[in-house]
Amino acid sequence: MQWLQYVREIPDFPEPGVLFRDILPVLAHPDGLAEIVQELEALIRPWQPEVIMAPEARGFLLAGPLAFSLNVGLVAVRKPGKLPAPVIDEAYTLEYGENHLQMEAGLPLAGKRVVIVDDVLATGGTVAAAARLAHRAGAEVVGFAFLIELVSLQGRSRLSSEVPVGALTAL
Ligand code: IMP
Repeated sequence: MQWLQYVREIPDFPEPGVLFRDILPVLAHPDGLAEIVQELEALIRPWQPEVIMAPEARGFLLAGPLAFSLNVGLVAVRKPGKLPAPVIDEAYTLEYGENHLQMEAGLPLAGKRVVIVDDVLATGGTVAAAARLAHRAGAEVVGFAFLIELVSLQGRSRLSSEVPVGALTAL
């Protein structure tokens, strides 16, 4: 299969004027998850990660199989109120207002090489906040990997120019 042809475009979601790229139809295809995970793994492996970190929810769907096949740790970054244990919290700005992301405190991340994975790089606010969480836990962020980069939104500009950013496709 060619996974990109299964990405669905939904106009005016979640608000008017936004063209939402939905990867769930790719995952519903029997070969979909295998294909994208193999491509992401080839991108990420040279960065020699020790931990895959991903924000909810679509990021989790990619991070699980990637951490399994790379034989590395997995750290979930969640929206507020979801994690039972004490958390580290980072705020990030949206066009209107702000959001928060949280990670469990006390995870063994000090000195670890972390790759942050998500389905879509849009403005970059989400993964930039995830990277701040990783740094606060003492980790080194060694790469950002996405299925899709929405180039016009310039998400890369919110990420450190020192750290590699890769996407399987740019739209
Ligand atoms: P950012 O913080 O603006 O880069 O937005 C990225 C986050 O929003 C990711 O967790 C994505 O899952 C989600 N997102 C933003 N735009 C889209 C889209 O077009 N399709 C799917 N997810 C999106």
